[in-house]
Amino acid sequence: MEFEAVIGLEVHAQLLTQSKIFCACSTGFGAPPNSNTCPVCLGLPGSLPVLNREAVAMAVKAGLALGCQINRNSIFARKNYFYPDLPKGYQISQYDLPLGQDGQIEILTGVRQEAGHVGEYQPRTFGITRVHLEEDAGKLIHQQGRDSYVDLNRTGVPLIEIVSEPDFRSSQEAYDYLNNLRRTLLYLEICDGNMEEGSFRCDANVSIRPLGSSELGTKTEIKNLNSFRFLQRALEYEIERQKEVIGGDGQVEQETRLWDEEGQKTLVMRSKEEAHDYRYFPEPDLLPVVVSEEWIEELKAQIPELPEERRQRFVKEYALTHEEALLLTQTRQFAEYFETAVRTYNQPKAILNWMMGDLMGHLKQDHREIHECLIRPEHLANLVRLIDEGEISGKMAKQLFEKLYETGDDPETIISQENLQQISDEDQLTRIVDRVLEANPEKVEAYRAGKAGLLGFFMGQVMKETRGQANPEMVSQMLEGKLRSSP
Ligand code: ADP
Ligand code: ZN
Ligand code: MG
Repeated sequence: MEFEAVIGLEVHAQLLTQSKIFCACSTGFGAPPNSNTCPVCLGLPGSLPVLNREAVAMAVKAGLALGCQINRNSIFARKNYFYPDLPKGYQISQYDLPLGQDGQIEILTGVRQEAGHVGEYQPRTFGITRVHLEEDAGKLIHQQGRDSYVDLNRTGVPLIEIVSEPDFRSSQEAYDYLNNLRRTLLYLEICDGNMEEGSFRCDANVSIRPLGSSELGTKTEIKNLNSFRFLQRALEYEIERQKEVIGGDGQVEQETRLWDEEGQKTLVMRSKEEAHDYRYFPEPDLLPVVVSEEWIEELKAQIPELPEERRQRFVKEYALTHEEALLLTQTRQFAEYFETAVRTYNQPKAILNWMMGDLMGHLKQDHREIHECLIRPEHLANLVRLIDEGEISGKMAKQLFEKLYETGDDPETIISQENLQQISDEDQLTRIVDRVLEANPEKVEAYRAGKAGLLGFFMGQVMKETRGQANPEMVSQMLEGKLRSSP
């Protein structure tokens, strides 16, 4: 029998607010353990939570960007469970009436093929079940075989949970959705998207069913997915595992599993019997969250062009491939850099190549972000223009790029300061070529006797004389002409 995979994703994203969701403590990362705490986030009796307006604004923007209905009166609920990283014994979350629900996104998704090849992309719509606000728990630090410590700085940091419908049919679709979701939150500037540091976490729910069936099979939930690659590998492993179980006439158990990256497999973490009963009930210390129509409109107006829209526009407007457009729209800053450069000089492909090659290479090496880059997009565009106009050779452009990167000056300034112009003056080049040929009579002889490879030697000599500034095309034409004609 043929099976298809059914996948639903639950994402927790940390919001970039200054202070926590129910108190004024800082959300700053890396402070001494337990220093960013107060009676509210420590869960001391008698303390009262006060909702952070900025967190609500961010969550509403996320909901809108994901096509959700925003509930004008959503409510907070207590999710009861005991764990040492949760001082109150319950987490304040949303349950019956989340801030946002019934959304959907349409993205291009498809088979990613080997580097250089363009995969086949298809538009697919994925449902968003809900977007709700909640508080994060603290962090436990275990010393191997010794003590365990609790750091409550993270307790009360605002999160949004984004739950998808079980709409993904392959690990690739799940990957593309997650990538788009992450980019969307980055574009909204409400989350830093860092998966390794845990500010963007994903749990995956997986089941399989006979192809053509519309019923859902028993699912397992996979945790500990710290990167997009882990997610993809874990899903592929789990789909195969379930196929084997069912193929062997067994039954998939409903359970929570952990991805073990070292062993490249999923392991049972807890079974259905051990599942929590959270006994949700409305949080009595907080009023319903009232979001007015005007506020929604105000927040809507702050939403920029989103990554998927921008990607599809780039493909049309600049004749780029989907892969190229995806790379360029990875962050808002990167996309804006590209568009500013293209507005200065309309050669999208060449600008893309410089950005993806030299620029990215340098930034990666220096651990810099694009907004920390000294080269202005206008300057990069002018560099490309100078090459096209024959002012500088490709080789000189590389040198020039280094200077632009180090100094932040514009190309024209550097060219005149460093005397970098390409020499395209016919008379000047003729004199140099003649000098080189006169200085090497045996080599000229040898060339004429058939050693055509010596052309490179002559080129090299001319370049040396001109510090690499001779127009290479002109020089090679001159050399060939002069060497062909007998003395
Ligand atoms: P739970 O009650 O276990 O939390 P939910 O119904 O709330 O399950 O769904 C949690 C996530 O699991 C959602 O993203 C949903 O789309 C997905 N999901 C639910 N049922 C299945 C299934 N049978 N197969 C795959 N994913 C599923
Ligand atoms: Zn606090
Ligand atoms: Mg659930």
